[in-house]
Amino acid sequence: MDESNDIIVVGGGPVGAALALGLDKQGCKVTLLEARAQAGAEDDARTLALSHGSRLILERLGVWPLSPPPTAIMEINVSQRSGFGRVELTAAEAALPALGYVVEYGALQRALTAALAHSGVQVESGCAALAVSGDTQQARVAVEQAGVRRELQATLVAIADGGAGLELSQVRTRDYAQSALVCDVASEQPHRNRAFERFTDEGPLALLPNAQGWALVWTARPQRAAQLAALDEAAFCAQLRQAFGNSLGAFTLRGRRRVFPLHLKVAARPVAPRCVQIGNAAQTLHPVAGQGFNLGLRDAFELARLIAVRGAADAGGNELLNTFFNQRRFDRTATILFTDSLIRLFSKDIPFLMPARGLGLAALAVIPAARKFVARRMIFGARG
Ligand SMILES: Cc1cc2nc3c(=O)[nH]c(=O)nc-3n(C[C@H](O)[C@H](O)[C@H](O)COP(=O)(O)OP(=O)(O)OC[C@H]3O[C@@H](n4cnc5c(N)ncnc54)[C@H](O)[C@@H]3O)c2cc1C
Repeated sequence: MDESNDIIVVGGGPVGAALALGLDKQGCKVTLLEARAQAGAEDDARTLALSHGSRLILERLGVWPLSPPPTAIMEINVSQRSGFGRVELTAAEAALPALGYVVEYGALQRALTAALAHSGVQVESGCAALAVSGDTQQARVAVEQAGVRRELQATLVAIADGGAGLELSQVRTRDYAQSALVCDVASEQPHRNRAFERFTDEGPLALLPNAQGWALVWTARPQRAAQLAALDEAAFCAQLRQAFGNSLGAFTLRGRRRVFPLHLKVAARPVAPRCVQIGNAAQTLHPVAGQGFNLGLRDAFELARLIAVRGAADAGGNELLNTFFNQRRFDRTATILFTDSLIRLFSKDIPFLMPARGLGLAALAVIPAARKFVARRMIFGARG
């Protein structure tokens, strides 16, 4: 492995891989370190709702179209169980070919890995970053690969480890005391490219159109999520129908159920010079509005764009990183607040808000400008 680089990216998940590809397109010398033996997880059960904005970025990186083809979301239907108010966001109203696209994490990762293989990025798999430090001259990464420890240098280290442990700054954490149960289901009624977000007493329940069926993200208290995951198929599907309602008919389970604990994690700017965190390493969100990866991809895109404009020679310089943090602050803060507020607003802990929530949804339903605002925020983020 070459010891000296323009930029080292730690973490070959979808955000780190996208950054490495974006930098490679600018002619930077990039090394991507991925702790797993194979860059990225093929077996991750998550299904991601990509915004139209993310599609545009992936197109620029040459990673679109994906295979199997993502399922387009033409309509998003938001409602609350045991309360009035319902809102529909449509692609036609947003004047877009689709509001978003549903893709499996593994399929996205495969496409990124294939693009990396045809790029100039040096990918080091099975290579875990142990520690990162920096000074005014250079950044350093201590790594371990096949039992051998060594140190690499670069002008900038971008950490995209998903918040796995390379914490370089203070991290603000809030445990949502919720878990997300994730699996594929089918229903009697076809999805017709509609996505549903239903706020229940237990937490939000999302059904995303995925191929011929649905990707389910069902949020509940950890104990309840574990119980749901352990139910037999018939009991599980009956519970799902009870929580979602009857409009799609009976459900059938497809594949395994997985449970993810949920918390909000926001990292402050790293103290070490020449280091930056992006994606989940910078902010880990509740999946309620499907914003985590979309926000992380915007982090990656904006960092690569800034380095293209300013040049890679001093990519880790204070001035460039100051600009990056200032440019990203509004989008990051607005997206974190938007996601976190949805959870607080629809929490059963504040039941007296139920009528207000219904009114809010009803207002959105009748005010096209407000609906467009929400749709644009979900599709493009807050650009400032
Ligand atoms: C249930 C659920 C549903 C979600 N749905 C959506 C959605 O619909 N839309 C959306 O936009 N987002 C969604 N998200 C969020 C999304 O999954 C994340 O935001 C996204 O995966 C973050 O990507 P990342 O590359 O930053 O981190 P990760 O995907 O966690 O990847 C990090 C990578 O870094 C590697 N790594 C870790 N430590 C090291 C180390 N020390 N050295 C080297 N490599 C290391 C790991 O092996 C991994 O490959 C959802 C999340 C959950 C839990």
